[in-house]
Amino acid sequence: MTRRDFLWSGAAGVALLAGTAAMLRMGGPPDARAAETFEVTKTEAEWRAILSDAAFNVLRKKGTEYPGTSPLLNEHRKGIFACAGCELPVYSSETKFDSGTGWPSFWQEIPKAVGTTQDRSLGMTRTEVHCRRCGGHLGHVFDDGPPPTGLRHCINGVALTFKPATA
Ligand SMILES: [Zn+2]
Repeated sequence: MTRRDFLWSGAAGVALLAGTAAMLRMGGPPDARAAETFEVTKTEAEWRAILSDAAFNVLRKKGTEYPGTSPLLNEHRKGIFACAGCELPVYSSETKFDSGTGWPSFWQEIPKAVGTTQDRSLGMTRTEVHCRRCGGHLGHVFDDGPPPTGLRHCINGVALTFKPATA
């Protein structure tokens, strides 16, 4: 093998690697949830029948509510925040904090209550968080939260229902 051949094969290898990386970035289903199965499944019509338009838009269409609009921002009682789609308890008032973002925020989910996917919409890579039982979109998780986890679950209030603890 001549030096020229060696250089050429090296360049081809780099090109091949770059091509593979590009394929990996673009490959696979655009929404990983498509491959995930959930205990609670309904048709779009069935979801529309039980959810408000606003909740349907967030839970089933991954919409985002306008910041500052959720009554749950001012919910400071002890209790449980459940998925508005299937009523699975997903967050506890014990982990709720005021992030100042305009969305209800929590530093930890209830164990095994949620799943996450990588969301590459809007030109960003974010961690999407959804209900483990029905797959309903709840919001996103960021790593700028308070101790002890350092996480900020930024959740659409319309995707939650609050059940106050009975004293
Ligand atoms: Zn759910």
